[in-house]
Amino acid sequence: MSYANAFSTNYFEARNRFRSLARDRGCRLFEYPIDHLGPDGEKLTLDVAILGEANPMKVVLVSSGIHGVEGFFGSAVQVALLEERLKTWSYPPGASLVLLHALNPYGFAWRRRTNEENIDLNRNFLLPGEEYKGSPDKYGDWDAFFNPTSPPSGIEPFLIKAIFSILRHGGMSSLKNTLPVGQYDYPKGLFFGGSGPSKTYQILDAHLSEWVGNATDVVHIDLHTGLGRKATYKLLIQESADSKRTQWLKEKFGADVVETLDPKGTAYSIRGGLGKWCQAKFPQCNYNFLTAEFGTYSVLRGIEALRAENRAHFWGQPKDPSCVWARQQLMEFSAPRDLAWRSSVVSQGLDLVQRAIDVCF
Ligand SMILES: [Zn+2]
Repeated sequence: MSYANAFSTNYFEARNRFRSLARDRGCRLFEYPIDHLGPDGEKLTLDVAILGEANPMKVVLVSSGIHGVEGFFGSAVQVALLEERLKTWSYPPGASLVLLHALNPYGFAWRRRTNEENIDLNRNFLLPGEEYKGSPDKYGDWDAFFNPTSPPSGIEPFLIKAIFSILRHGGMSSLKNTLPVGQYDYPKGLFFGGSGPSKTYQILDAHLSEWVGNATDVVHIDLHTGLGRKATYKLLIQESADSKRTQWLKEKFGADVVETLDPKGTAYSIRGGLGKWCQAKFPQCNYNFLTAEFGTYSVLRGIEALRAENRAHFWGQPKDPSCVWARQQLMEFSAPRDLAWRSSVVSQGLDLVQRAIDVCF
């Protein structure tokens, strides 16, 4: 069977399907509005569905859409989960399954990676005491290439420019250690982490404790697209390769899919990631945080799409063909139209969540 139809055509359809199925399954349902509207003036909310005990000892969390447009995929996994796998599922004593739908509802609705303030939310969760300041050493050198102050162009020789910039600024490792790390000095630039806690940060800060409670064990899967080989996934973790948790996660989820910060691997070091923040918030809890990255296209194609869409957002006219093209690039990079890809990643996502449930409960 194909799971491709679990993908919705827009944020509102996704939200409605999620909420309606969650209701059918008897979930406790919550909504948290943000102060912005969608393209047709609709309200935007982060939605939470919970199936399980009110004071659980073990919790599986599945979150989608921290990177807005990547929510098409994450939501599809959650919708398919509710529609199919949870139909006959009854939670064991002491357990709770928590689904966080559209952590970045604005980005999902407007098909951006970032939120209403151009914040990359997975760079916004700085730990208490950390300042929303600073940038990787070479971000300034790369700024003119990453963030041109002009509308996008579909006929620009992007690849040639990219290769030239890579050679000029220290190679691929310089790119990898600069662009995705998170910066706090260029509000209109890529990978901007914000100048303070975002709305999503505030919602999670206020409510995550209600959902996790006094649980002793958590497995949190945060669903993403865009990194790794097409239609496969990796589970990125921030722990070191020799830590006990890494060994345990590799044993439970597969040594070939769990990846630590190996300089040669898929993962890279970031500031303000959601995972470390969640772990710091529950120091007594065995909080396992897995960033599940499902591959789409090459890294350079991703940078091209993000860069073009960001130019369109800040410097273009929305209806200009080059801006429409730029938005399509990012949509295709984040949620390819290919039905075989869609079906495959949802199927793998379902198995991953099932694995988390088996491992945790
Ligand atoms: Zn992502």
